[in-house]
Amino acid sequence: MYDGLTGCYTFFCPTREEVRVPLSEFRRVERLPGSLHPAVFKVTFACACGEDHEGLVTHDELDWAPLGGAEATFLNLMTSRLESAAFELLDLAARRIQAGEWPWSFFCYPEERPRPVFPSAFRVLAPADESVGVAVRCPSCSRTTINLVSRAHVDVPFYNDRRVGVVEHLFAEDHETALAAFCEELHGSSFDARRRELAA
Ligand SMILES: [Zn+2]
Ligand SMILES: [Zn+2]
Repeated sequence: MYDGLTGCYTFFCPTREEVRVPLSEFRRVERLPGSLHPAVFKVTFACACGEDHEGLVTHDELDWAPLGGAEATFLNLMTSRLESAAFELLDLAARRIQAGEWPWSFFCYPEERPRPVFPSAFRVLAPADESVGVAVRCPSCSRTTINLVSRAHVDVPFYNDRRVGVVEHLFAEDHETALAAFCEELHGSSFDARRRELAA
């Protein structure tokens, strides 16, 4: 479940029971084979208890719930009732996307250009000091690039860093271990990503 007020997904933790997790604390996102409607993703996340756990989210919840502010309500003056703002917010988000604003974006290294993206395209995430390394599978060319971005770039829809770090490396198709190894290196100060412009 996504909580629009905190911008976090709710998952289960064996010791703390319910925990709230922002996207930037996700570590792996894997689409489960078989279930197409709705597609289901297995998320490995870094829990506040110090362990990593796994949870399941549907495609809609992963990509669209952050745009709809799932639990946001407003006072409808016509009916004097509190109503869900989800539909209005989703409608607004859809219009912003049509107008060329992207809720999430990344710099695709093989294509040498910024691309719009949704969280379901995130594959591996790793914290790196104040920022976070994100391995994204490009929806356009299907190849994977690691970007180094701010946490807000990941957690806040329609907030995009103007410049992002780009790991200049071509990854083999579906090479999870290589991705994980690269993300580990993001911890080290030796890491030196080229900065690229996302916004004009
Ligand atoms: Zn936990
Ligand atoms: Zn691409």
